[in-house]
Amino acid sequence: MNSPQKGVSRIVRGLSVIDGAGVRLHRIIGSPRLNYVDPFVLLDEFKSDNPKDYIAGFPDHPHRGIETITYMISGNFRHKDSRGGGGLLAPGCVQWMTAGKGIIHSEMPEMKDGQLWGYQLWLTLAAKDKMIEPRYQHLNPEDIPAVRQKGVTVKLISGSYEGTSGPALTEFPVSYFDVTLKKDSRFQVPPAQGENSFLYVHSGAVAVEVDDQTQPVSSGELALLADEARVSIRGSEEPSGFLYFSAAPHNEPIVRGGPFVMNSDEEIRQAFLDYQTGRLF
Ligand code: FE
Repeated sequence: MNSPQKGVSRIVRGLSVIDGAGVRLHRIIGSPRLNYVDPFVLLDEFKSDNPKDYIAGFPDHPHRGIETITYMISGNFRHKDSRGGGGLLAPGCVQWMTAGKGIIHSEMPEMKDGQLWGYQLWLTLAAKDKMIEPRYQHLNPEDIPAVRQKGVTVKLISGSYEGTSGPALTEFPVSYFDVTLKKDSRFQVPPAQGENSFLYVHSGAVAVEVDDQTQPVSSGELALLADEARVSIRGSEEPSGFLYFSAAPHNEPIVRGGPFVMNSDEEIRQAFLDYQTGRLF
């Protein structure tokens, strides 16, 4: 394997996995290939025209210690939780759920045919925030601003770009953009010193450019960016698109237990115990 060019520290392809009640998805972060990119502990892509791949959905399950962010591109997801909350995620909607000390919810596709295409990201909360009160933010497509310049469209779910900010309120600064590019247009990666930054190409193909070096990244690949100034992402097909993420690491222990992400084995045991004894919500 060739080592990636300057600007990219790693390129990772996701794994096909089955989760929930039998949903086939593409796990990009949270797999043996890439366990986590602190504070990003999971990134799943669901993209299928076959109802058998998604119809079983994700019936009631708990979460603690994380935020789960669902972004739909096509198809609908209905969610319902143990605190009486719920709603429908239609195409272009984002649900930013802060599980905090605990919530039990279901996430079910609400369509019998057609394409389901979306992403779920998990952010681990800092130790001091693990047990905060849960909350939801629902963003409609019209709530999500876009910066358009020279063949590049940057939709801002959270974080800022060129003076425009995404609407999501976050527990710590995190950038989550959906970028689409025309061929040979360039997205200038914002300075993010000391942060962990990466992109996941969902359409077409791009090239990560630093000085005179070019690293191609194709659809279905994640590119972990090196801490480098002057990185740009050029569209190499028409059109191309990627999700861009960046946040400072918490630099704390990350311990997983299924739907819980805490800082120690003891806290994971406690989460399971609280769930089993009906105290997790
Ligand atoms: Fe969930």
